[in-house]
Amino acid sequence: MRVPLSKSVRFAVFKRDLFCCQYCGRHPPDVTLEVDHITPVASGGTNAEENLLTACFDCNRGKAAVPLSTVPMSLAMKGAEVAEREAQLAGYREIMESRAARIRQDAFDVAGILLLVDDGVNFSVDRRWLRSIKTFNERLPFHIVKEAAELAVTAGIRSEYKRFLYFCKVCWNKIKEGAQ
Ligand SMILES: [Zn+2]
Repeated sequence: MRVPLSKSVRFAVFKRDLFCCQYCGRHPPDVTLEVDHITPVASGGTNAEENLLTACFDCNRGKAAVPLSTVPMSLAMKGAEVAEREAQLAGYREIMESRAARIRQDAFDVAGILLLVDDGVNFSVDRRWLRSIKTFNERLPFHIVKEAAELAVTAGIRSEYKRFLYFCKVCWNKIKEGAQ
């Protein structure tokens, strides 16, 4: 018998999967998300998180015999659906904002290393530097980017700009090598 998933379990799965359908990659507000069982309940699959996956309505119900839109919905159900959609959108936005904040912070940390900043709080960085560093952070693991910055510092290059160029070269080489 199918045990309904609690909201907290569902949202924990959504959060783990970054509020994106794991089949098609779409996210709120474009789609309403559901939780899919990797091993179906009918085949003995459980509600354990590792058996759960975020799927959009289309991907999850794609094979359903009866399109749900043809089933009349009560007002209470409509209200619950709207609340669910709003909660999903809020969750998606929150996770993207914290991700953006983390990428920004990581870029500042690397810039701080390159600029030989001690306290890491009060310093200004060229926006173009931050944009480049963010690109590297998106394409390389953070520790590799950090190591590249440290390498540029230990190379003893006096000019900040040349140090930065050296750092960029190291990062591009790592990207070419396909660093993991
Ligand atoms: Zn999907």
